[in-house]
Amino acid sequence: MSVGAIDAEALGRWVRAFAAEVSRHKEVLTQLDSAIGDADHGANMDRGMAAAVAAIDLESPAGPRAVLTTVGLTLVSAVGGASGPLYGTLFLRMGAAVGEAEVLDGPGFSRALEAGLAGVVARGKAEPGDKTMYDALAPACAALAAAFAEGVDLDDALAAAVGAADAGRDATIPMLARKGRASYLGERSIGHQDPGATSIALLVRTAALTLGTGSGLGGAGARVCVEDAGTLA
Ligand code: ADP
Ligand code: MG
Repeated sequence: MSVGAIDAEALGRWVRAFAAEVSRHKEVLTQLDSAIGDADHGANMDRGMAAAVAAIDLESPAGPRAVLTTVGLTLVSAVGGASGPLYGTLFLRMGAAVGEAEVLDGPGFSRALEAGLAGVVARGKAEPGDKTMYDALAPACAALAAAFAEGVDLDDALAAAVGAADAGRDATIPMLARKGRASYLGERSIGHQDPGATSIALLVRTAALTLGTGSGLGGAGARVCVEDAGTLA
């Protein structure tokens, strides 16, 4: 694979890396969801991504669209919580956006992620500042698009997206939740990091590590949240 060529194999690496990071941080994701939800985000995402990896192994999807569609369909059917349909829609819309392309370049990947974000919004109606996965995903998409518009290379563009996703995730802490289970808590949701924004930051970081070389990240690990002792390789 040449540098910057995002093909089915690269997307498969991304899905596997995300599944591994979700599994590694399952307890933290659950801990975050126990504060403002029902303590199942880690289990939901772990079950869904393990099933997605198993589906890829079984079906060996050929081409970017098939990989992304397989992951999306699996998440929709394997995960009961809000995150299953939302993450499922993200991958399904990405798959539809890439069409018949065998290989995506950076801007093509960026456009697919934007389409995925639009799907998440269509499904969940999240707006900026509602304290959801949108608040990490939208800044990541915007950073990626802006970087490519400026002619930045894939590694640096993905690194910019990682920085934006991490900042977006951290910015959910002081927000008042207006969507999903956390919204039932009203003011008491303030001061807690959103679990879905936290898993999105893992999704974006694993993209940088598998679709690019990860070199733009500067080699430093990152904390997933203040409660987390672990770092991300
Ligand atoms: P559930 O809330 O059904 O238990 P999860 O715990 O797996 O599902 O996922 C919760 C996450 O889903 C939240 O942290 C939030 O980021 C995301 N979420 C919930 N509702 C919405 C929505 N309407 N739009 C976008 N994201 C949402
Ligand atoms: Mg939950």
